[in-house]
Amino acid sequence: MEKVDVCIIGSGPAGYTAAIYTGRANLKPLQFIGENFGGQLTTTTEVENFPGFPDGIDGYELVDRMKNQAEKWGTKMIEEDVIYVKFEKNNNLIKSKNKTVIAKTVIIATGAQAKKLEFENSNKFWMKGISACAVCDGALPMFRNNPLIVIGGGDSAMEEATFLSKFGSKIYVIVRKNYLRASKIMQDRVLKNDKIEIIFNSNVIGCYGEEKLNKVKIKSNDGEIKNILCNGLFFAIGHKPMTDIFKDQIILDDNGYIIVEKGNTKTNLDGVFACGDVQDKKWRQAITAAGSGCMAALQTENYLDNL
Ligand code: NDP
Repeated sequence: MEKVDVCIIGSGPAGYTAAIYTGRANLKPLQFIGENFGGQLTTTTEVENFPGFPDGIDGYELVDRMKNQAEKWGTKMIEEDVIYVKFEKNNNLIKSKNKTVIAKTVIIATGAQAKKLEFENSNKFWMKGISACAVCDGALPMFRNNPLIVIGGGDSAMEEATFLSKFGSKIYVIVRKNYLRASKIMQDRVLKNDKIEIIFNSNVIGCYGEEKLNKVKIKSNDGEIKNILCNGLFFAIGHKPMTDIFKDQIILDDNGYIIVEKGNTKTNLDGVFACGDVQDKKWRQAITAAGSGCMAALQTENYLDNL
C-alpha cells in the first residue's frame, strides 16, 4: 500500500492542472487517470477557445499535452479507474483494480458526461454532425450557415440554441414536452430570436445522410412524423456528474454534483477538494475546469502546510 500526500482522481483539464501545480510544489502527486483517460475533451474535435492556441488545437492533443506536462512535473499516473474510496481525515483510502493508496489529501476531478440519445444512425453520425456540446463544436465550418437542431428544453438547450444562432442559418429546438424547463430569462432570449423555432411535444427518431448528416426525422407525441433538413444536431439534455463512488460519503446536490464552498474547491470533508465539471454544472468549459484544478491544488498545498 502506497502512502502519498496528494491523490488526484480524474484526468481532464481539472485533474491534469491540479497535477501540474501540486507536482511543481514538490508534493509528488499520484493521479488515477482512469482507463479511458482525458475526459470529455477527447471526444471533441477542434478546440478553438482555449487561450494560447490561436489556430485551434485538436481536443485529444490538448489534453495529451496537459498529461505530458503533469508527468514532467513528477506526477505518478495510474491508468486504472478508481473502484472504491473511504474518506477518513488525512488517511483517505483509494483503490483501483491493482493499486491501493492512502492519501493525506484527495482532489476529485472525475468530471461529468453529457447525456446522449440513441436513435436510428445516432452512432454513425456521432462527431460527424452530432455533438453534445454546441459551445465546443458549434462554430466548426460544417455547421456554419446551415440549419441545425438542438434537443432539450432546459437552460443548456436555450444557451446552445442562442449560441448556434450566431453561426447556423436556422435553429430548431426539439422539446419532448409541451413546455420549456429553462429559466424565464433564457427562454425569453430564445423566443425573441427570429432564427430559432421551438418544436414542442416531439422526439428525434432518426438521422440520415450519405457521408454527412443532412436530414433528421422527428415524431410528435400524436404520432405525426416530419423530416427536417439539417446538418447538425446537438444534445442538450443534461449531464451526469461522475460521483457514484463518492455519493455516500460526500455531500452532493440534487443532480449529483459535489457541493463545494462558494468561490473555492473545499468539500464538506477536510482535505478533500473537488474541481472541474464534477462540481460545476454551469460553466463546464475546459478553461474553467483547468482554473478550478489550479485552485484545488493551491488549497491542497495550503492544507498540507497547516497539518
Ligand atoms: P436540465 O436537466 O435542466 O434539462 C434537460 C432538458 O433535456 C429538459 O428539457 C428535459 O426534458 C430534456 N431531456 C432529458 N432527457 C431527454 C430525453 N431522453 N429526450 C428528450 N429530451 C430530454 O439540464 P440542463 O443541462 O439544461 O441544465 C442543468 C443545470 O444547469 C440546470 O440547473 C440549469 O439551470 C443549469 N444551467 C445553467 C446555465 C446558465 O445559467 N447559464 C446554463 C446551462 C445550465 P424534460 O423537461 O421533459 O425533463
